[in-house]
Amino acid sequence: MSTHGWTEPDDGVDVRHVQPYEADKTYRCPGCDHEIGPGLGHEVVVPRERPEERRHWHSGCWHRAARQRERASRSRKR
Ligand SMILES: [Zn+2]
Repeated sequence: MSTHGWTEPDDGVDVRHVQPYEADKTYRCPGCDHEIGPGLGHEVVVPRERPEERRHWHSGCWHRAARQRERASRSRKR
């Protein structure tokens, strides 16, 4: 089930990597509040319960946020 490790955190989101050739619009990254321009590879994060609330993240921002979340959940579980 869990084939992509950190891309399946327990808050129920699906993460898909968008290739540069697939990125044809400008999005705003919630991680740094900067734009993701067309032609830039990035990540699409889709809550499984609310697929209409998908978000586009810079890969670097998403990885950093995922690491922080992992660390936070680990310390919460002691
Ligand atoms: Zn960003």
